[in-house]
Parts: sequence; C-alpha cells; structure tokens
Amino acid sequence: MAARIYLTPGRSHRVLRGHPWVFRGEIARIEGNPADGQCVELYDARERFVGMGMYNSRSQITVRLYSRQLELLDERFLSEATSRAIAYRRALHGPEDPPAERLVFSEADGLPGLIVDRYQRHLVVQTLTAGMARVEEVVVSILQEQLNPEGILLRNDAPVRHWEGLERAKRLARGSYQGPLQMSLLGVPTAVDLWEGQKTGLYLDQIENYRLVASLAPGRRVLDCFCYQGCFALVCLRQGAREAVAVDQSVESLARGQQSAQKAGLSVQWVQANAFDWLRESERRKDRFDLIVMDPPSFTKTKEQRESALRGYHELHIRALRLLSSGGILATFCCSHNIRLADWQELIGNASSDTGVPLRFLGFLRQAKDHPSLVHVPETEYLKGFLLERAS
Ligand code: SAH
Repeated sequence: MAARIYLTPGRSHRVLRGHPWVFRGEIARIEGNPADGQCVELYDARERFVGMGMYNSRSQITVRLYSRQLELLDERFLSEATSRAIAYRRALHGPEDPPAERLVFSEADGLPGLIVDRYQRHLVVQTLTAGMARVEEVVVSILQEQLNPEGILLRNDAPVRHWEGLERAKRLARGSYQGPLQMSLLGVPTAVDLWEGQKTGLYLDQIENYRLVASLAPGRRVLDCFCYQGCFALVCLRQGAREAVAVDQSVESLARGQQSAQKAGLSVQWVQANAFDWLRESERRKDRFDLIVMDPPSFTKTKEQRESALRGYHELHIRALRLLSSGGILATFCCSHNIRLADWQELIGNASSDTGVPLRFLGFLRQAKDHPSLVHVPETEYLKGFLLERAS
C-alpha cells in the first residue's frame, strides 16, 4: 500500500480547506518510505483520511493532492480527469475551433504539474512535478487516444522542474512535427515555434485580451512593451491602429514577430532592448503613445523577491505613464501570483499620484478562461490586468 503522511496537529492547514498543497513544515511524520513522485495517503493529526497526493521530498511543496478519495494516480484516474478538462474547453468555445488553446492547466484541472496546450493539430505537454513526470508516458498515451494529434511534443525545459529535482529536456513523444507552425490569430498570420518559443510557443493566457485591447486600437499609436512576438501590436494594427512600436529583449522572438508582420503586410517598428532603458530614453525624447500595453515577465518567483519586484513594477508604471498621451489607454498586466490584486492596484495608484497622471478604470483583465482558476486555490488566478484611461 501507499505510504502514509500525517499532518501536524491543528486546523490551520490549507489542505484541510480544499487547497491541494502540503508544505514540508506541515508534516509531522511519514509511515513507509515513499520515493519521490510516488502516491501517498494523507491523514490529519487525528489519523482521519484527507486525500491522495504526489510526494516529493525535494520540493517545499512536499505533497500535492490530486484526489480526496482513496485512489491511485493510474490510467483510469488520469483519463477521466483529462476528459473532464477537455470537455470544459469544448463547452467554453462552443462551435468555435480556436487555433490554439490550453487543454489542461495543472492544479486548476485537478492534475497538479500537468500542462497540455494544443496548437492546431499538435499538442505540447509539460510535466512539472515529480509525480506527473512519473506517469508522463501514461498521459501521452491517453492524449494520443483521446485527441489523435499529429504530434505530441514534451517541452520539459521549464525552470520550475529544477525545484522538483527533475532534469530539463525536450523530446517528440508521438507523431511528427515540422515546425514552426503557421496559424491565424485574430486574422494575423502567426509563426509559432513549439520547440524554441517561450512557454509552449505562445502566451495563450493573453488570447482573450488581444481581442479586447485591439478593439480599442483604431487610430491610436500603440506601444507593445515586453511584446514577445508582438501579438498585441499586430492585432492592434490589424484592427486599425495608426502605428505600433514593439519592444522586447529577445532577438528570436522579435524575428518571429517580424515574419508574421511581413506575411500580414503590417508594419511594426521592432525594437530589441531592455524595456527599462528604452522607456527611459523614450521619455527623454518626449515620445508619446495613445495605447500602451505592458506585459512584463514575472519579476518574482518567490515571496522573498516580492519587495524588489514591486519596485521594478513601480518604476515601469512611472515610465509608462510619462509616455501616455492625454486620453491614452494603458493595459497593464502582472503575471505573478505572489502579487495580489489589491497590491497591484495600490502600486498603480502610487504611480499615478507620483507622476500626476490621473487614471480612470475601464476594466479588469485576467487570464483566458481556458486557464481556469479555483477560488480556494488563489495561486491558480495569476494573470491580472487593468485597463486604464488617462483622465486628463
Ligand atoms: N505580451 C506578450 C508576452 C510577454 S512575456 C504576448 O502576449 O505574447 C514577457 C516578455 O518580456 C518576454 O518576451 C521576454 O523576452 C521579455 N522580457 C523580459 N525581460 C525584459 C526586459 N528587461 N526588457 C525587454 N523585454 C524583456
């Protein structure tokens, strides 16, 4: 039978209120000798069963629950959970067949550590925990059977694997892939490199926001700051923006963006630079934009980095606001779950008062709905954005 893990006494454990994580310090004792990645049974201090989890002695998050029933992480379990995740997306998109979507989003789909993204007829899979890595081959077979894709790529090069004691590697698990793929994203031909692109190829969590931001773009001069392949800039131009400047430090990403722009007959001014430096220089030149999109990477992977991250975000907003014309719109995003909505709002409020640029709320933005979030697992709600208008 599986090893048993007992929590320390008390009711304060989040795992007793629906959260799937158990940190190392919450464990009182372990009966048996579980290997990393193996299934364990979790009990409270009074020896009442809590649920089944994946164990990893190397991770701060030592147990991740996948079920509140006594059941193994076997083919039946994985197959049912995968079907449920796919059914949720089918219901979400209706008859629409998006060119790309997230099919499985880890804890939010009850499959801790598993990411599955679909790009046309290819799947990109990431296993990010020791438990998921152990059943990787079973998962791949299930996906092949349920979706019959042309190819399944394993992008196990994500840095978080390091914290789980896992190696980083990429390999083709099934079928074939002659990349990069060409797909139409809101009417813009887009090159997607499933091997070399960031994340699994695109920032699928932003897809719904492309549409929304682009609807505000007609006639505006757009800045796409931290642009990756310039998806925001391209869809804005397609919707009638007057001009677009796109800034990123990654040469390869800009090159793919350039390819898309050429194919689409859209003219973007691509800038390869550190965004902080570029914003400072633009301020000196007294440059102005009527629509600024700011989508920086997460500056904080851990709680310890929070303070310096907040300073970085604050500086970015000060600089962006100084470039925003009167009546201009700022769409600003934060993808770090260590920074909560209220802190993000306070930070932007401070930047507004520090620069004397009054801002009006136009709306809240968040991750696309195929990246579901659970109210009792706040970490699953990670991408937050504000749509703001310069009020004078
Ligand atoms: N808006 C993009 C996603 C941006 S992800 C989209 O919708 O596709 C964050 C981007 O910031 C990455 O492309 C990364 O290369 C870039 N980046 C990270 N640090 C940077 C810096 N200091 N200056 C400029 N770009 C940076």
